[in-house]
Amino acid sequence: MADQNNTNTPGGESSPSGSENRKNRFCSMCHRSEEITGKLMDLPGGLCVCNDCMQRSFDSMKNMNFPGFNGMPLTGFPFFSAGEAGGAPQPEKKKKEEKKPEKQIPDLAHLPAPHRIKAMLDEYVVGQERAKRALSVAVYNHYKRVLANEEAKEGDVRIEKSNLLMLGPTGCGKTFLVRTLAGLLDVPLAVADATSLTEAGYIGDDIESVLSKLLAAADNDVERAEQGIVFIDEIDKLAKKTNQHSRDVSGEAVQQGLLKLLEGADVEVPVGASSKNGMVPLQTMNTDNILFICGGAFPDLTGIIKQRLQNKSGVGFGAVLKDEFDDDNKLLHQVTVEDLRTFGMIPEFLGRLPVLVPFDAMDEDMLVRILYEPKNAILRQYKRLFEMDEVELSFTDGALHAIAKKAMERGTGARALRAIIEEFMMDVMYEIPRDDNIGRVTVTEEYINGTGAPLIEMRGVPRLTQ
Ligand code: ADP
Repeated sequence: MADQNNTNTPGGESSPSGSENRKNRFCSMCHRSEEITGKLMDLPGGLCVCNDCMQRSFDSMKNMNFPGFNGMPLTGFPFFSAGEAGGAPQPEKKKKEEKKPEKQIPDLAHLPAPHRIKAMLDEYVVGQERAKRALSVAVYNHYKRVLANEEAKEGDVRIEKSNLLMLGPTGCGKTFLVRTLAGLLDVPLAVADATSLTEAGYIGDDIESVLSKLLAAADNDVERAEQGIVFIDEIDKLAKKTNQHSRDVSGEAVQQGLLKLLEGADVEVPVGASSKNGMVPLQTMNTDNILFICGGAFPDLTGIIKQRLQNKSGVGFGAVLKDEFDDDNKLLHQVTVEDLRTFGMIPEFLGRLPVLVPFDAMDEDMLVRILYEPKNAILRQYKRLFEMDEVELSFTDGALHAIAKKAMERGTGARALRAIIEEFMMDVMYEIPRDDNIGRVTVTEEYINGTGAPLIEMRGVPRLTQ
């Protein structure tokens, strides 16, 4: 034991052994005296170390992933009992295990069937019946595929990915539908804009940045992100440009670059940045189980479809009347991969988006329904605001149609509705709280058309019939 009492002095020389010198011992690492550090621990070879230095050594070994250290119970470490070291690694290991989610998506029995997914979407999204059905089936199949492939053995049938391509004019609810779906299924969603993407090395966002967004949406949980949904909007802007003499770095090249992601591959993703450079940490992500949904307005596509149909119809008995091609909305539903190739999308890209989902353009009735039908409809939101002032707000049918007509004129689909209502409600919302006696406000068609004012009724006065 005498050896163990040998200590190092601050100067590094060994101090003589003996019980007298125990009083004056110094930590072999920080050279502070035992009086300052508290009781020193004796190590073989005559060394002694204070509690602080020992803890620091443990911490740094843990951070360096010292081989054989991670996960090893402290009691197994040569010099320590678990009590002395505070029993550190064991609870930490447990914590790590707890943090790891067992399964990201529900099992097959708990995966909502397409009709249930659609019923949930119906509460928020007006119309677009075909798109809602297509999306519900695609998402159901996608997660079934993820589960099946997870359990697949050698030689089993492997189900291929079915990414979607949504086509429809601006403001018809493409993004809204995907957002609603991701929210209902509680999976991470990234919404990216294809126009900001460029081939690697050029000014703009790298193609992999769409996955950085997904990773951020999943709070940097790679496993969760790898089962999320990526929505790439404005995909039609990537169409091949005709008469282009220079390299098309933001169009065709981006379509090429996206192929790998859409198909499923291990991709190096810049974390917290939109392009890769030496300063940005990279994370490998696998895109096998990520559902990609691309969307675009595809202007002039109806012209291409019309042309194809007209060529086919020809003349004679089989000829189709010209009027049949006048409804653009119906035309979009007849889209084929061939039309999209003519538009400028490359065949390999289209091959990786096998499900085509055309959306209906907005008409006046649909816009009116959007105003009051969805669970979170704009009118419901305003009514709630007025309720807080104990004022009842209502809109006449005429007012709703007048708002929808104005929205149609703007040509931005349902997106215009909020802006229009905001414009008209601003004055009402300013004036009403002025007078506590006001109990009801009715927005009329005349007010929307600028030929009258809203109908205001006082509290306690019987309601006017309209
Ligand atoms: P886009 O088709 O251009 O992606 P969005 O999905 O962004 O259009 O739609 C804009 C807004 O219009 C949405 O945030 C939503 O409030 C509203 N909206 C559009 N379509 C619908 C719909 N079918 N049902 C309910 N709201 C809709």
